[in-house]
Amino acid sequence: MARPKIVKETRRPIEDREPPTTALMPHEWLSEESLRSYKSVLRSGGPFDVYLSVTAEEKIRRHAVREAPNRLEVMGFLLGEVSSWKGRAYSVVRDVGTTELKSTSSKVRFDPEAFPKLFHELDSSGFDYILVGWYHSHPGHSCFLSRTDLETQRTMFDQPYHAALVIDPIKRDIKTFRLVPGGYEESSFAVFIPEEAAARGKGPRTRRLKVKPAVTT
Ligand SMILES: [Zn+2]
Repeated sequence: MARPKIVKETRRPIEDREPPTTALMPHEWLSEESLRSYKSVLRSGGPFDVYLSVTAEEKIRRHAVREAPNRLEVMGFLLGEVSSWKGRAYSVVRDVGTTELKSTSSKVRFDPEAFPKLFHELDSSGFDYILVGWYHSHPGHSCFLSRTDLETQRTMFDQPYHAALVIDPIKRDIKTFRLVPGGYEESSFAVFIPEEAAARGKGPRTRRLKVKPAVTT
């Protein structure tokens, strides 16, 4: 077993672990450019920055599509684990969590009063997930990080493995982003089908990362 690397601030060890290698697929809604980068990461053997389970993907897409007719943004947390491979950190998103939202077509935030409910749901999920990022939708206005989104990322998700997933259910586009010095860039992600064994919790467990409900607009 490799010695754990210590992450600044959270001081949570990130273990070396091979990422999902079977049943990987590009998201159906990737743009041509994103698909090219998917293929190049696949050729290089990875790791991708983010591995999105089909379970999480479906929940995110359905959530976004459900509110698309009203042009309402949706938002939630990406839950899973962080590991490293070939010296690079990557995250595996196994599930998502969301709660009541206050949203319009161009702005969304969690209802602060709904946080206790959300954290109770996370506690009773039976898994020791950590928060690896967040998702939100841009119904009809394509995928990027707005100034507010970037502020949210810097406030709540400032680790290199923290992902911001943006989905446009109307234009059918989806992208993941991460912080880089001075701004943000698109990161790579693959959709994967988790092995049953992993779903039953036989895999290595990760420690829950305590998070403060600090989303602001
Ligand atoms: Zn946004």
